Amino acid sequence: MTAVQPVILCGLNTRHVHTNLALRSLLAYHQARRPEQQLILVEATINDRPLSILQTLYQYHAPVYAFSCYIWNIILIRRLSRDLKKLLPDSLIVWGGPEAAQQAEDFLRREPAVDLIIRGEGEEAFSVLLDVLTTGTSEDLDSVPGLSWRDRQQDRIHHNPEGRSLAGDAWPFPYNRQTLAENAGRILYYESSRGCPFSCSYCLSALDRRVRYRPLDQTLAEINQFLEADLRQVKFVDRTFNADPARAYAIWKHIIESDAGRGKTNFHFEVAGDLLDDRSVELLNQAPSGLIQLEIGVQSIHPDVLAAVNRKTDLDRLARQVKVLRQGGRVHLHLDLIAGLPGETLEAFGRSFDFVWALEVDHFQLGFLKVLPGSPMVDQARLRGFLWQDEPPYEILASDGLSFADLTLLKNTAQLLDGFSNSNFYRHSLCFFANRRERPWLFWRALTEWAVERGWLERPRSPADRALLLLSYIRESEPGLVKDSTEKMILDLFRLDYQLSGQKDQPEFLGFAAPENEWEQEIRLHAQQYFKNHHRRSGRLRTDLFSFDVRRFLKSGELLPDTWAVCFDLSTGRPVMLDKCRVNDLY
Ligand code: SF4
Repeated sequence: MTAVQPVILCGLNTRHVHTNLALRSLLAYHQARRPEQQLILVEATINDRPLSILQTLYQYHAPVYAFSCYIWNIILIRRLSRDLKKLLPDSLIVWGGPEAAQQAEDFLRREPAVDLIIRGEGEEAFSVLLDVLTTGTSEDLDSVPGLSWRDRQQDRIHHNPEGRSLAGDAWPFPYNRQTLAENAGRILYYESSRGCPFSCSYCLSALDRRVRYRPLDQTLAEINQFLEADLRQVKFVDRTFNADPARAYAIWKHIIESDAGRGKTNFHFEVAGDLLDDRSVELLNQAPSGLIQLEIGVQSIHPDVLAAVNRKTDLDRLARQVKVLRQGGRVHLHLDLIAGLPGETLEAFGRSFDFVWALEVDHFQLGFLKVLPGSPMVDQARLRGFLWQDEPPYEILASDGLSFADLTLLKNTAQLLDGFSNSNFYRHSLCFFANRRERPWLFWRALTEWAVERGWLERPRSPADRALLLLSYIRESEPGLVKDSTEKMILDLFRLDYQLSGQKDQPEFLGFAAPENEWEQEIRLHAQQYFKNHHRRSGRLRTDLFSFDVRRFLKSGELLPDTWAVCFDLSTGRPVMLDKCRVNDLY
């Protein structure tokens, strides 16, 4: 191989909007050392046609193809590697990334198409490997840190020891003005630290507990570049961003002050909810809406379940801080649970569900345990007799607390959650119905079983269809609720949610096409004028009338008859409730 021959770095993302941080980092690191070397980044998605990705890769006739391997793309990478090797037998195929590293021996034995696997941090290893391939001999492979390779003559696999991890200031900033501009509409990833101080048994990050922080001034300067580029979203991949709360505070403060109303970029962080300190919460509650997004892993609320996976969470503190953030209404909140953790039964999971539901966050993600090769969970799962998929994503099929049928029920609940409240459809209606039950989980469980029985989940449903599903379920399960004056209030509640979902069509059954009498027409026009005058706005506002006390409902969840006008602001991406008032107070 010569320095002028291109080396291909191939990243297969789940969606076009995603970008591959690892390969950009390898590219930036090596180009800083060897600017003469031609490195080409090829990105595609796992939904693209494999043949078309193969054609793209083949056209380079490159001496080296490097793939970044994760559980979501390894199956496609295996297929592409095999086909590439047939077409270009002299090209070297290099795998790296968490999915390859943990099973290096196994992959090199099973996959003849794969020549080399890099374990651990890739920047230094990949750069030294390219040096060796350009100027050295095959014996020099011994000098590449963290490299696993096949010695065909001796019929054995070598595993070189891993090198030293890069210090916080040594991994490259993988973007420049041009690449930021080219990818402004995509999600860019950034790491201000590597490693995690915690050691949850299902997580590969538990294997690297040496947390290294990028110097704060360097981090802040790089954030400035993101802000100047007006990007859509930057996701910090720091495993627990607020492991050092003072540092997290300084970074959030800088982002909030530097954004200065630009309002273009959203910053996403994974944080430990119980490590959020009061001053950070106070600060975050002053952030412009849409600037900051927090993802918080709750996973389970049962101390014995958490202890079994080596986690400890102060749930009271987590709930308290989340509630304060929710009341502040500035930060987008995303909370996770994991189904299938050791010892958690369906009943116990339902209690965890109730806990998260009560926090009323923007996104409630119901995830499923993955028994990742190389993680401590593998031994634990074997001991407890778990069943899980042999192939990626290694998802749990049965645990010691949940049967396959239980997990199937939860998968369907997750689908409903995503199709309704996580997509911002019928959030208020769902809260009303779920919170009427003794426990919200019992509502969701019954709704899931009802929807499955009727085949509702077998194909995608339109937003109007989803309202029909909920309405039919409520009519059947609580026939006393949807009748007479209550029926009108419930349909109006659905219509309130529908207005907030930003859909353009106006389904008749939600009362959009109901003929207005003269009185209704008059108060609607009157309310419209009031809102325009009050907010000194004219265009992009919509007024609608509702047959219940909207303020009381939003405050306490009670549905009491009254006539209220609500003004929706349509000038932002999704309609927001700008104002509301009791119609009688307008006169
Ligand atoms: S799950 Fe999160 S907190 Fe636990 S080890 Fe992994 S990254 Fe760290």
